[in-house]
Amino acid sequence: MRKAVLKDKSRCCGCGACAAICPHDAISMAPDAEGFLYPRIDPARCVDCGMCERRCPATQAAARGEKPAYAAHVRDEAVRERSSSGGVFTQLAREVLSRGGVVFGAAMDEELRVSHVGAMDETGLAALRGSKYVQSDVEDAYRQAERLLDAGLPVLFTGTPCQVAGLYAALGGDREGLLTADLVCHGAPSPAVFASYVQMLQAERGQRVERYAFRDKRRGWKDFCVVATFADGAEYAAGQKEDLFMRGFLADLYLRPSCHHCPYVGQRRPADLTLGDMWGAQVICPDLDDDRGLSLVFVNSEKGERAFAEMADALVLRRTDPARNVPFCPPLVRSYPPHPARAQFFRAFAKEGFSRARVEALLAPPGRLTRWGRRLRRMAAQAVKR
Ligand SMILES: Cc1cc2nc3c(=O)[nH]c(=O)nc-3n(C[C@H](O)[C@H](O)[C@H](O)COP(=O)(O)OP(=O)(O)OC[C@H]3O[C@@H](n4cnc5c(N)ncnc54)[C@H](O)[C@@H]3O)c2cc1C
Repeated sequence: MRKAVLKDKSRCCGCGACAAICPHDAISMAPDAEGFLYPRIDPARCVDCGMCERRCPATQAAARGEKPAYAAHVRDEAVRERSSSGGVFTQLAREVLSRGGVVFGAAMDEELRVSHVGAMDETGLAALRGSKYVQSDVEDAYRQAERLLDAGLPVLFTGTPCQVAGLYAALGGDREGLLTADLVCHGAPSPAVFASYVQMLQAERGQRVERYAFRDKRRGWKDFCVVATFADGAEYAAGQKEDLFMRGFLADLYLRPSCHHCPYVGQRRPADLTLGDMWGAQVICPDLDDDRGLSLVFVNSEKGERAFAEMADALVLRRTDPARNVPFCPPLVRSYPPHPARAQFFRAFAKEGFSRARVEALLAPPGRLTRWGRRLRRMAAQAVKR
């Protein structure tokens, strides 16, 4: 029996394809101490056939070549207001729903847990709308998508690039009736860290958080806010530079280890379409920049091209040169290194959970002594390598 799917745990993106593929149902996904899901192998069932490792997306090369890029937003202003960027996801989903299809994406349940679910109508679709900055658990979504495709229904599967790659791995390749969209992704934070942060907000206010939005546009698209709504109707609203969980996310304090060397940055997109924020709109296409949300869309395949053409009338769009986005959106070309205090954060997290004082201190700009200490450690590490 195998001990692990991959020898190097840090390459596992937690997509869950191995669990969906295993012909002996020997693999389940379980959280580690940092709260990220990893495959767990049942020794009583595993026959070491090796299929999990062979089909694992981390062992495949994803390449799609040069692709056209667009700045776009939906004409439906109510949808744009409720979407994180320009609302292109909703339009894409509506096209698939109108053909009797099913749309898979990340939804947040009443316990504020994020997982992949299928939507068959506008109510289901509303739950998928909006970015949730925590790693989504794909649960049974790959197998559900496969059953729907087998039954001849159109399926749109959306998620991070590793989740889309996981779907293709689980299906054993592309399928007729399947359309996929991945996200420009800077990395996925730990679900356990988010859960603990919500507990902290609840303890501070003495009220349950009933709803949570990571990308509220009340202050605009660029200066987005997080909004937690408590059981008594009160709101906690804080800008991306004020809210502590968002600051830790944007500073790469608690991303999944594999996100720090993501194999899907740059042109290596697994999906038919890629959606992101058109950061830099004020320079690249100032006439489209009204601060209400603008998407960056890459069209990666012929299927993606057809899907994009079908929804074009519902969009305001402009072809752009993706090279111009890079200075404004580094995840297009590179993964981010972990925050220098990542290990320290998780050591403390294991003992005390998400602590406001601790995270504030870890995110504070380093003093001169700390900077010198880090420089010396880097120099020592380089000397050892040589
Ligand atoms: C963890 C994460 C990191 C991201 N980092 C960047 C970035 O650095 N730069 C950038 O330009 N864009 C990034 N994005 C993408 C961006 O936030 C928007 O999701 C994207 O622009 C689509 O916006 P929209 O207005 O078309 O649709 P929206 O309605 O806002 O987005 C809904 C789509 O996002 C998916 N989604 C939401 N949360 C998750 C999740 N946790 N896991 C998987 N899928 C999810 C839904 O399934 C659906 O497909 C990131 C998204 C996530 C989830």
